[in-house]
Amino acid sequence: MVQNEDGRLKARALEVIPNGLYGHLSVKMQSPRTPQYYKRAKGAYLWDYDDNQYIDYLCAFGPNLFGYGHDEIDAAYIEQLREIDTATGPSVRMVELAEAYADQVSHCDWTMFCKNGTDATTMALMTARAYREKRKILIATGAYHGATKWCTPMPEGTVTEDHAHHIYYEYNNAQSLRRAVEEAGDDLAGVFATPFKHEVIHPQQLPDEEYARTARQLCDEKDALLILDDVRAGFRLDRDCSWEKIGVRPDLSSWGKTLANGHPLSCLMGSDRAREAAGKIFVTGSFWFGAAAMAAGLKTLELIRTTDYIERTIMLGDRLRDGLEQVSKETGIIIDQTGPSQMPLIMINDDDGNRNMPACVAFCDGLLDHGVFFHPFHNMFITPAMSEDDIDRTIDGCHAVAKKLPSIPMPEVAL
Ligand code: PMP
Repeated sequence: MVQNEDGRLKARALEVIPNGLYGHLSVKMQSPRTPQYYKRAKGAYLWDYDDNQYIDYLCAFGPNLFGYGHDEIDAAYIEQLREIDTATGPSVRMVELAEAYADQVSHCDWTMFCKNGTDATTMALMTARAYREKRKILIATGAYHGATKWCTPMPEGTVTEDHAHHIYYEYNNAQSLRRAVEEAGDDLAGVFATPFKHEVIHPQQLPDEEYARTARQLCDEKDALLILDDVRAGFRLDRDCSWEKIGVRPDLSSWGKTLANGHPLSCLMGSDRAREAAGKIFVTGSFWFGAAAMAAGLKTLELIRTTDYIERTIMLGDRLRDGLEQVSKETGIIIDQTGPSQMPLIMINDDDGNRNMPACVAFCDGLLDHGVFFHPFHNMFITPAMSEDDIDRTIDGCHAVAKKLPSIPMPEVAL
């Protein structure tokens, strides 16, 4: 793997961008071997500025649902762009897409569009508070709901008052949720949940049905709103809201990432119960009503409805999972795999079951030489644009790197 141009770009960025990059792409959180700028993306692949090609298991951290640069979706985007995009008001695409979501997502009676997942979770929080003018918001410890002052995981730039009315509970623990609801007393506004436990580093957990049903029941008893944060998992696990299969319907759900296959679109969906409250809050943005991303959203939804993309993604994810189990057996490297097949968290553990962060980083660094882009501690994403051959090449790469792992120097990791 050549890294000349990427090195030059990193040096230039340091001069004009604080720390070179920020947020989840922060230089501090990436191995120096990870490329930071990318020249091209198509289908399942990504190219850096040194023309190294990777099978990309990050999928833009979620938005790449059907493959980068999808011809039909991009054609819908471009066609709309030629007519009208960001203008003084929205186009008919906004009404069409809200109608289409009301048809597609069981709990959804209305939609409010925005641009990022954080916009959608913030609107959910405000709607829950506006609903009965209550303040307390319940959040699972460690859950990520975005990057603004009420939810950013880092304290810099925030004050304790930003979280003054948050109460934390343990994900998948109905007892812990009950205790948090008791603590909120008669001031409970809403309960946030992610479709499954998908925070970084920790093993992912599928939702416990009793926990999910308890969340619904407690919100009904207390006349508070249940919010499902489907920003990361939405339309990857299900063609409906992610808890539909377990029979739990939220009052509000936040969406983003996959909605327009990479074009900027997110939204808050809600049921009639929350409609009036949603209508009270003042939220907007200069780019929120752009028609092109909504046209891309309509085409993406058509593909969600009419293709076997989820079934194919599960098949590919299972093929990878089985292959890595075999690699683990053959090399003795403990590869811990958790979460749904479509969104695996893949990490290296020590014999005692603890995360071996230097080994995770070394593993991902090594895979770059095999044209495979993995993340050392964030869940990854499978796209149906991957081929069986891509998965098999990934497994071969993992085998080669795992075999070498005990003998290569471990990187220093500042996590
Ligand atoms: N909620 C969840 C569950 C997420 O995974 C993310 C993004 N990773 C967000 C909210 C925030 O979305 P965005 O980065 O688009 O603001």
